[in-house]
Amino acid sequence: MKQLIDLDKKHFIHPTSSIKQQQEQGAKSIIKEGDGIYLKDFNGKTFIDAMSSLWNVNIGHGRKELAEAAKQQMETLAFSSAFSTFSHEPAIQLAEKIAAISPGNLNAVFFTSGGSESNDSAFKLVRHFWKLKGEPQRNKIIALKKGYHGVASASTSATGIPEFWEMADLTVPGFIHAESPYEQGTEKSIRSIREKIESEGRENIAAFIAEPVQGAGGVLIPPDDYFKEVRQLCDEYGILFIADEVITGFGRTGKMFGLEHCGVVPDMMTFAKGVTSGYIPFGGVVVSDPIHNVLKEKSTGTLFHGFTYSGHPTAAAVALKNIEIIEQEGLVANSQAMGDELLKGFKQMKQQLDIVGDVRTTGLLGAMELVEDPETNKRFSADLKVAPEVIEALHERGVICRAVTYEGTDIICFAPPLIINKTQIQTLLEKLHDAVLAVQKQLGD
Ligand code: PLP
Repeated sequence: MKQLIDLDKKHFIHPTSSIKQQQEQGAKSIIKEGDGIYLKDFNGKTFIDAMSSLWNVNIGHGRKELAEAAKQQMETLAFSSAFSTFSHEPAIQLAEKIAAISPGNLNAVFFTSGGSESNDSAFKLVRHFWKLKGEPQRNKIIALKKGYHGVASASTSATGIPEFWEMADLTVPGFIHAESPYEQGTEKSIRSIREKIESEGRENIAAFIAEPVQGAGGVLIPPDDYFKEVRQLCDEYGILFIADEVITGFGRTGKMFGLEHCGVVPDMMTFAKGVTSGYIPFGGVVVSDPIHNVLKEKSTGTLFHGFTYSGHPTAAAVALKNIEIIEQEGLVANSQAMGDELLKGFKQMKQQLDIVGDVRTTGLLGAMELVEDPETNKRFSADLKVAPEVIEALHERGVICRAVTYEGTDIICFAPPLIINKTQIQTLLEKLHDAVLAVQKQLGD
């Protein structure tokens, strides 16, 4: 174990991590294996994986069916390129399946290896679309503050959490951020988007992008009417609407895709994470018929955009099996039902504990805010590190969760695997109660 920790410090730069903390304290847990909602580390300690790792292990850990699907495909055709006019069966079948489960007229898919690639691809595709339509000046993208869209150059520029671009002062021109609806409400956010469109010039805007629920921003669930208003605004100005369903797709919110809650169909939808439950990197962009038609009818040469692994056969086979499991086991409905259980427990805790502020879930995507005064929503001083203390207390009690602390918030995020059952939800809630109470007591001392 010590040897692993030393090697980890010496050679492994962790993604989105404190390198200083890694060097001083070493990895907190070196995870060895997973089964269902549980992870086990090298010390033999078992954890409830209340984040589905990175919001992605939707069908839970250790599913042999996915390993079998990968093995079979690898033995038949591990890899073959889908470049140019070549194709292969797993990608064709998966494209058909994704078109079938996507809402409305979203019927054609471009594949990638993850969420950042998907969003970068969407930005290139919308700009290509406008170019083909004879409006090449339409190249600006409006996104929301607190939105997260990835770390490739364009997707990081769309991200509305400045730390992600400030760390390298790297942004692509043409990305504009409007107010998020979470604290501002629908009206203010829509007004802010409208102002950006007007000040940049409506003829220069290619698309608006948003997550149905802002995940990395702290599970910020917009008001019910928000995306209907967004759709209307985009239609009014003739702007394309890209939904980033990287977290919210594949049952996470209690519907197959997050925007289905409000009956709104975007022009493009990006996905990753839950499409393979993280068993293999994969993602993509689904485009609407009108967009696909323009690409088909107006393009004359090569589409100069494609990854080596676009449509990777083994990843596609794993995705197909994963979606089959989500459908056959009724995991979308379970996400809704267990999310309701989680919320019930959160609400009880709000009655019992002094530092619980806003609580929310949509399916199995949830958050609990910790505040000094729930009446006024007064936040704790950042140096008290309340949310990180709760995460630590949860870790001690065998639960892996994630905190969002930027701009002085103390938010605990939850996204357990969609296979979680009622008894496991109760255990998770008990451990959470215990952890929050311990930190509350500590704060009182
Ligand atoms: N979009 C959203 C909403 C995400 O939450 C993420 C990752 O967390 C991404 C995009 C980027 O995906 P990836 O990390 O697979 O590149």
